[in-house]
Amino acid sequence: MTIKLNKKELLSNILGYPRIGKDRELKRALEAYWAGRTTREEIAATARQLRQENWTLMREAGIDLIPSNDFSYYDTVLDQALAVGAIPARYHALRDDKLNLYFAMAHGYQKDGEDVIAMEMTKWFDTNYHYIVPEFTRDQTFSYFDTKAVDEFNEAKALGIITKPVLIGPVSFLLLGKEKEEGFHRLDLLDRLLPVYARQLAELQKAGTQWVQIDEPFLVTDLDNRAREAFRRAYDYLAANSHPRLILTTYFGALGDNEDLALSLPVDAIHIDLVRGPEQINILKKFPKDKILSLGLIDGRNIWKNDLESSHQLAHQAICQLGYEHVFVATSCSLLHVPYDLEQEDDEQVLPQSIKRFLAFAKQKVEEVELLKGISKGIETDACLKAFVANKRDIAARQKSEEIHDLKVKERLQQIKAEDYNRHSDYAHRSKLQHDRLHLPLFPTTTIGSFPQTKEVRSWRAAYRKGKISKAEYIRLLQEETKRCVKWQEEAGIDVLVHGEFERNDMVEYFGEKLKGFTFTRKGWVQSYGSRCVKPPIIYGDVSRPKAMTVEWSRYAQSLTKRPMKGMLTGPVTILEWSFVRNDQPLSETCRQIALAIRDEVVDLERASIGVIQIDEPAIREGLPLRHAEWDGYLQWAVDCFRLTASGVKDETQIHTHMCYSEFNDIIEQIARMDADVITIECSRSQMELLDVFRQFRYPNEIGPGVYDIHSARVPSVGEMVALLRKAATLIPKERLWVNPDCGLKTRAWPETKAALTNMVAAAKTLRS
Ligand code: GLN
Ligand code: ZN
Repeated sequence: MTIKLNKKELLSNILGYPRIGKDRELKRALEAYWAGRTTREEIAATARQLRQENWTLMREAGIDLIPSNDFSYYDTVLDQALAVGAIPARYHALRDDKLNLYFAMAHGYQKDGEDVIAMEMTKWFDTNYHYIVPEFTRDQTFSYFDTKAVDEFNEAKALGIITKPVLIGPVSFLLLGKEKEEGFHRLDLLDRLLPVYARQLAELQKAGTQWVQIDEPFLVTDLDNRAREAFRRAYDYLAANSHPRLILTTYFGALGDNEDLALSLPVDAIHIDLVRGPEQINILKKFPKDKILSLGLIDGRNIWKNDLESSHQLAHQAICQLGYEHVFVATSCSLLHVPYDLEQEDDEQVLPQSIKRFLAFAKQKVEEVELLKGISKGIETDACLKAFVANKRDIAARQKSEEIHDLKVKERLQQIKAEDYNRHSDYAHRSKLQHDRLHLPLFPTTTIGSFPQTKEVRSWRAAYRKGKISKAEYIRLLQEETKRCVKWQEEAGIDVLVHGEFERNDMVEYFGEKLKGFTFTRKGWVQSYGSRCVKPPIIYGDVSRPKAMTVEWSRYAQSLTKRPMKGMLTGPVTILEWSFVRNDQPLSETCRQIALAIRDEVVDLERASIGVIQIDEPAIREGLPLRHAEWDGYLQWAVDCFRLTASGVKDETQIHTHMCYSEFNDIIEQIARMDADVITIECSRSQMELLDVFRQFRYPNEIGPGVYDIHSARVPSVGEMVALLRKAATLIPKERLWVNPDCGLKTRAWPETKAALTNMVAAAKTLRS
């Protein structure tokens, strides 16, 4: 076999770039526009500017396949819904004005007597990005409605840059959506959808596109025969029509049992995620000689510097097997999930250089892809050699860094014993002791933790951070707010009180700032949905708790009342899920370290006479792996970590947990295995229907099904909540029912909070009598 050794043909490929702007320019432009403060021309100008910056940056770095149409005002799934004319009927009156239509679909429309609700939004696979869920009806039709992909290609072309448009593939597009009526499956719509995709691709070709990235992330999930068949039909159809060359793009996992299917599809290139599925390099053994393999080696989901030597070995293997012209070096997925630019982090207090040297954000990752290309071609420049050597030095230093590796933490992990995962006695025994201690009435009332974070509370924190008020003054202000909150709860007649969480900015950041092993960024924003961004903490090292984190606040709050004051902690799985995590040890190990740190806090709270302690785990479900076969393994360690956190206390200490959803059908056994004395969940929006699984399973411990939805300012009536509680009492024995809202009240204002909780207490009293 002869391999063409034309090194020039090794191309670099970026799957997508962040788009919110390095200073969140798009967020500001959008929010100003929605508030009526700017014009549509202004957001268009900001958007054009951001796209141009991204393209130019990648071109200057030397990237060959530069993405376009990865930009979006809100969400790229919504963009594609518009492109193929999948516009639900309730928006049809707005069709003449595309921008109005688009934002109405994204977040609803309320104007001139019209009131149209938004489309649903949900998590994008296992990321913290949320997409708009396409809606389909039985007689759904599609049409080529919006030319955004072509427009953006032309926009870049006018700048002299030939881009690679990114589209969500037809099968994934349908699978991401939802049937809005019965009697059909959304994949039944494929034949109607394909001509519109063919048209869109033909238009792109006409505009001069050479490559199109067609994303089919569902290829890394469990597929049934209908879905597999849909993939075959879709790509056969597209192949029969003329179009630019397609890169069938998969990410967030390995192809696994869909590998043969993917390899059989008539496309020109296939992209695989070698960060999430490194074993996929074995695809080389059967990779067709007429296709190009795009190697997803630079992690688009995490912020660590790439180990270029290891990546190079994989790339080298692929090149030897397939030849330069049949390989791309690439990011594992879009860089949407990492912040813009590490160089913006210039505050040593926030992110010390000693940790910064191990990190890479989007801009640095683009450079890494180019560097990998350079190394793979045989290091042709001095700059490349230097950068490679520096990378090797940093990778080696990270393995030895004393800031990262803490022997004491590692030893403590080794010494965990089986009994550390168990409470002393079973729930039946504990519950007697707890009831004797707490003397709670039937249907006890409580809240989930936070009370309104008003403008004032936030202004105190800002003033304190800027050094405008002293620490003592800040604490005094918070104490007064806490006192008012506790007094109000007493007056309202709530049974188990909370301190209100006024001292917390965010339920993960607050703990991250107090734990060793965490660091932060100033501008490390990542898009969560629409204009909303989050700034996740970075877990860089072994985690430990230098000192108590919440005890002072709980002790103070308890001193204000004779009623039980609930201690409030964030659980280890949630802290893990909502942070950038280490990639140099298994997640389960990092999680266990956090669990031990929070366990110490639980024990300290007990010592400070706090008799009820809540450990929030809203993110347990989010962590479920994409493949069903991996669920058990994940749930095993996730639930173990919760148990480790909760089991350091005596039987008479009551442990609560909280989750913001209540789809427990498929994980109820593991939820029960958490063995919290009380679990509070979301339930009001489904009218308690979601409780049924707890009934069927005969869930043994206590439950607080949320009786009202805190996501709106609406105040539910006593009667409404009584009805919900009556329904709940038919499903769960009344001795085990609690009465509480859905979730924390931090985003609400005081007037509606007081009104709703007053009604809630009245509802509980009605049921008692
Ligand atoms: N204790 C937290 C609060 O009340 C829980 C928030 C959550 O579950 N997301 O805000
Ligand atoms: Zn919640």
